[in-house]
Amino acid sequence: MIHFKKYLIFLALSLFAFANAQKKFTIVLDAGHGGTDIGANRTYSDLGHVVEKNITLPVVLKLGRLLEKNKDFKVIYTRKLDETLTLTFRTQTSNKNKADLFISVHCNAGRQATSPPGTETFVMGPAQNNVNLEVAKAENDVIYLNEEDKEFFGSYDPKSPESLIALKIQQSKYLESSLLLGSLVEENFVKKDKRISRGVKQDNLHVLRLNAMPSVLIETGFVSNHDEAEYLISEKGQNEIAESIYNAIISYKKAMDRNADKNDEKKEEPKPVEQPLSNDFRILLMSTPAKYNDGDPALKGLNYILTIKENGQYKYYFATTNMASIRDSNLKTAKDAGFKNAVAIGFVPNQALADGYYTLELAVTKDKLSSKSPIFSALKEKDVKREKSGGKFYYTFGQFKTLEDAVKSKKDLEERGIKNIVIQKIL
Ligand SMILES: [Zn+2]
Repeated sequence: MIHFKKYLIFLALSLFAFANAQKKFTIVLDAGHGGTDIGANRTYSDLGHVVEKNITLPVVLKLGRLLEKNKDFKVIYTRKLDETLTLTFRTQTSNKNKADLFISVHCNAGRQATSPPGTETFVMGPAQNNVNLEVAKAENDVIYLNEEDKEFFGSYDPKSPESLIALKIQQSKYLESSLLLGSLVEENFVKKDKRISRGVKQDNLHVLRLNAMPSVLIETGFVSNHDEAEYLISEKGQNEIAESIYNAIISYKKAMDRNADKNDEKKEEPKPVEQPLSNDFRILLMSTPAKYNDGDPALKGLNYILTIKENGQYKYYFATTNMASIRDSNLKTAKDAGFKNAVAIGFVPNQALADGYYTLELAVTKDKLSSKSPIFSALKEKDVKREKSGGKFYYTFGQFKTLEDAVKSKKDLEERGIKNIVIQKIL
């Protein structure tokens, strides 16, 4: 699944390189949150329940109407209704449509009951301070509403301190244009609307991370500040915000057109679409006699680890892909997380072991498992093999010829409540 989806995204990114020159300037408008994901919110005695998703949608619809009046623009909405979207859907919508610009509209809330007011615009880039990391964590939390997103964005857990340290500069050729748009938006908020701006900031927000186009995330104000909340829910406030963003887009496009004219003579050849490799690649993080369960600090915040035990050594593998570019970026993620000796290892897909087999190590214990163990509610006792060695009991299940079959059975047992299963290679 993860495989296929990464490949799709990759295709979308590659096709983007062929975007034709004469098309309309396409803008994806993303009204933050929606449906069951209500976003930031506060309740006031005079204003009632002020909810982020109910502000971002009208602002985006007003902005969209302004843009649609202009024949140069094509507008795509990630949502026009109050509905829950996955983050994967938001980024895929933009990439599929070969958009020129991605604008995500949000509202802030402080951690305290009340907070100072202000707008801020985020672009994709390295986080500069801890305050930004707080925003990144709050907005990134949205991802974890959905299993599909969890797997797709599984490369790190934004809540783990190790992974926050590991968030390194993501090289982005769109950074400069995103910064330009961000500064135009904030400038209009200050000059035209007399708002307080907290500036343009760089951060590692998932919603911006996979976009193959200049992208900004605009925090249009704090719902946790009474006066700003009142402004944000007002018709006047929403109109002003939409106009300020619209004017910024107009200035931005003029600047881009001037640049394009300059660069017209030296057009770059589009890159060919990358072909999948014949092998699957996993990143070997370490090989050790110690067994680490999911979420152990030794795994430094990396998720979706496949553990394969061989000759008493546990080998920890991270991510699977058959695309060279994704393999290289997975390797970089592992190194950034602190696995300096990580290497990419090729696996022949569906290769049956000539001798031996794979089995699933369900548990290693000092005492015999009781019949109430979750293992025995998922499996019949007679199907589980128990062996005693070095004063410990080893519980294993099944014999599989291919790694893929073992992984499938492991996933199945995990769904039935058995955690931290290790695949063991017996030769
Ligand atoms: Zn938000």
